[in-house]
Amino acid sequence: MSIEVRNIHKKFGDFTALDNVTLKFPDGKLTALLGPSGCGKTTLLRIVAGLEHPDSGHILLDNESATQRHVRERHVGFVFQHYALFKHMTVFENIAFGLRVKPRKLRPSEAAIREKVAQLLELVQLDWLADRKPAALSGGQRQRIALARALAVEPRVLLLDEPFGALDAQVRKELRRWLRRLHDELQVTSIFVTHDQEEALEVADEIVVMNHGKVEQVGTPASVYNQPATPFVYSFLGDVNLFRGRVHNGYLETGDASFHAPTHQDVRDIQGTAYVRPHDIDIERYTAGAKGLVVRLERIHAVGPLAQLELLRSDTDELIEVVISQDRLRHLQLKESESLVVQPRQVHIFLDHAA
Ligand code: ATP
Repeated sequence: MSIEVRNIHKKFGDFTALDNVTLKFPDGKLTALLGPSGCGKTTLLRIVAGLEHPDSGHILLDNESATQRHVRERHVGFVFQHYALFKHMTVFENIAFGLRVKPRKLRPSEAAIREKVAQLLELVQLDWLADRKPAALSGGQRQRIALARALAVEPRVLLLDEPFGALDAQVRKELRRWLRRLHDELQVTSIFVTHDQEEALEVADEIVVMNHGKVEQVGTPASVYNQPATPFVYSFLGDVNLFRGRVHNGYLETGDASFHAPTHQDVRDIQGTAYVRPHDIDIERYTAGAKGLVVRLERIHAVGPLAQLELLRSDTDELIEVVISQDRLRHLQLKESESLVVQPRQVHIFLDHAA
């Protein structure tokens, strides 16, 4: 089922939680709502579900107006951050619950319920836990059971609100891969709320980046990462160095250096900022006449396959972070407090005023 929200506004008292949000969630895709805490992700999810009502705007499910439709008529399944499993019921009974409480006419037979639950347990690969109570499950197992329970009533939309938020990093990673595979199998339209950019980039078909109740950008993981539409998106999706300067004829002049910015060939003398990822910067040992920005190596953090360098610009006293491979570090034989020259391989420029 496709979902569309149009011009959604929502205030809590004087606070604007959603400010004119218009979005399409494509049929059968997994879309991540990504943004910092408080940006309105959960509110939007609750509005899609019918648990919250917008002050104005429309919701369409499969191109039909659903703004007034009751939550039960929207055919949504939920999974929340904090496992909402019933403590006194077994795993089996938890999954069966949604089927057992259906109106008599729609309720499957006991045999059909048993078969369905068995299928779901197999789908989430936990059939051996059917008779356990939630207290005897790990956090990751509980979330898989919560997902099985949400799927039992065959929802046309699956809404996941930080489903792995309470789990430790290793389990989170495993579960997001597992969810990705499960989604490929089921292809039910899903919206996944997260504030973790890595999670969104790995799991989603499409990412909606939100900030302060507004949509900043919508696109595939690769497009939001490689072509961020706003400075906020660029900074939110990864570490970044900022270089203020003057953009002129395809170059950004910053302090004593000049960075090539081929995308801004036609710009004449406008202030702007170059955004550069730490792994998109080349470094060389300083030699007289070397091209680039002169810096002093302050610290080396060399753990794992990559080394992180903290560099101090000699022209502005600002710090820069650069990430290089351990091989490169060994090759250069760098020592703290020596002078280096840095040159970005890839800059992304945001102008102060549109050119
Ligand atoms: P988080 O990741 O922290 O859950 P979020 O992006 O999901 O954040 P929302 O839960 O949608 O954010 O909340 C958006 C803003 O609206 C927050 O500032 C929150 O405090 C406020 N808010 C949400 N629900 C209510 C409510 N029922 N009454 C008053 N304010 C609310």
